[in-house]
Amino acid sequence: MKAASGLANFRRELFLQEVKNTPVWDIIVIGGGATGLGVAVDAAARGFKTLLLEQSDFAKGTSSRSTKLVHGGVRYLAQGDIKLVYEALYERGLLLQNAPHLVNIQSFVIPNYSWWNEMLYGVGLTVYDLMAGKYRLNKTGLLSGKKVKQLLPNINTEGLKGGVRYYDGQFDDARLAINLAQTCAEQGGVVLNYTKVTGLTKDNTGKITGVQAQELESGEIYHLPAKAVVNATGVFVNDILQMNAPATKPLVRPSQGVHVVLDSSFLPGENALMIPKTPDGRVLFVVPWHQHLLVGTTDTPLNQNSLEPTALETEIDFILDTAGKYLVRKPTRADVKSVFAGLRPLAAPTKNTNSTKEISRSHKLIVADSGLITITGGKWTTYRKMAEETVDEAITVAHLPETPCSTANLKIHGYFTEKVKNDSLNIYGSDRAFIRELINYEPALGQTLHPDFPQVQAEVVWAVRNEMARTVEDVLARRLRILFLDARAAMKMAPQVAALMAGELDYDLAWQEKQLLEFTQLAENYLLEPQIPIQPLSTTY
Ligand SMILES: Cc1cc2nc3c(=O)[nH]c(=O)nc-3n(C[C@H](O)[C@H](O)[C@H](O)COP(=O)(O)OP(=O)(O)OC[C@H]3O[C@@H](n4cnc5c(N)ncnc54)[C@H](O)[C@@H]3O)c2cc1C
Repeated sequence: MKAASGLANFRRELFLQEVKNTPVWDIIVIGGGATGLGVAVDAAARGFKTLLLEQSDFAKGTSSRSTKLVHGGVRYLAQGDIKLVYEALYERGLLLQNAPHLVNIQSFVIPNYSWWNEMLYGVGLTVYDLMAGKYRLNKTGLLSGKKVKQLLPNINTEGLKGGVRYYDGQFDDARLAINLAQTCAEQGGVVLNYTKVTGLTKDNTGKITGVQAQELESGEIYHLPAKAVVNATGVFVNDILQMNAPATKPLVRPSQGVHVVLDSSFLPGENALMIPKTPDGRVLFVVPWHQHLLVGTTDTPLNQNSLEPTALETEIDFILDTAGKYLVRKPTRADVKSVFAGLRPLAAPTKNTNSTKEISRSHKLIVADSGLITITGGKWTTYRKMAEETVDEAITVAHLPETPCSTANLKIHGYFTEKVKNDSLNIYGSDRAFIRELINYEPALGQTLHPDFPQVQAEVVWAVRNEMARTVEDVLARRLRILFLDARAAMKMAPQVAALMAGELDYDLAWQEKQLLEFTQLAENYLLEPQIPIQPLSTTY
């Protein structure tokens, strides 16, 4: 007998059944990253019959590889894009309000080595702070050199004049994705991972009538009629646009951002280090995340797409060398616990898009002649606003009943404000109690998976039963986040995770062995081994 879960409606087998039984969907969303999940939540919450299809796992793409900031974008302010910053700061406030179990307020310290920067950043960040209005976090302030040293204990103090402290939001991106999928289901929507859209169907006037999709575990093909189809496939939007009209020019091009993860001893404490302009004119940030440090810089445009991008060697070297200039202890390749890359869908210039209508600047929302709606660009922070605009557009395109958006005040699954002190399960919000119940019921599930990590066996069982995890990678990369924090530790946990999953899913030893082989091969990409470098096209700041 299994302990109560509280999530009886989030079951893949039930969703597959519903897919077979539904004659026509109001909205089918292609892509289960931040953008697609946001659209599916919005559509379901307005009462539309909604289906989301993801070819891999939820947030397998860019949406698990972000810097994990819920932010207005200090950089956009410096570029004078005031509207974008206002919009993102408002959305930051809503996310803190609707998912308090996943988003926290993070203090950032900019150390200043010149008085001019002290003034510049002090004024700029005060404006940033004030622009948040009623959703303002803590107050921006100037710091003495002594205070900077106190807040950033391992900072290089040579020539240090002072600093500025400001605040932004921080979150767990892949966990928010899972919670959005669950929220969509709670609102009556259906979400399926490992189901790839392989074609679009049209009537004899060329209008979209649905999609063809393949469920990748069984190989079964579905023909799914829909009134509106939304292409929310991130850096893959071009592929769907070309399915729609083969001659379509690329709408986006990928831009790679690399993060390396270090032990927290390189910068102990709770404050993040932010360098808005390194001597090479780039950004560098060192942010505490899950008891580790996430270190990254600005993106580099590429000309190739992948669900598992390989981090550019030049970027890894830049990050380590530059971090070494600001930290007392210089990180080396041997110190890197994990390295990962994400691809940002950068909107290509409008003239490259044919037979489409541009609607927004900060992200791209376009409608093809066939009625295919494409939404891309933007950022995690603004996923809700992007979704609202997309569903508004779908109502117009598909003549759906006019229904107002309700997500500004919609609590995201797991909503919980009372964190239990020192409980690593707090990230599950209201589900924490169910996982504790699972452990009470079967105490062996309270054992940790690795001596250096707090994650327990019950979390693996929970991920399979209630979070639609299907592979060892799903659990270690996007449910527990270990692959992103420490690839070697993840490899050590993998056999136990595979055994627990096999028990839950009724799979044999052969399945476990295959899973282990695949996971080990994948995890090696998160370790710093010699790699064949891909040449960047150029570098953006
Ligand atoms: C390095 C980096 C750092 C970032 N940091 C931040 C940050 O700190 N804060 C912030 O707000 N934003 C940040 N962003 C931006 C943010 O991460 C992205 O805007 C967002 O994740 C994009 O989500 P998406 O859903 O559009 O794309 P994705 O997450 O890539 O999702 C697209 C999905 O579509 C699926 N798909 C593709 N083709 C098909 C098909 N045929 N059938 C079914 N599914 C398909 C893919 O498998 C994929 O899962 C960052 C981006 C990068 C690159």
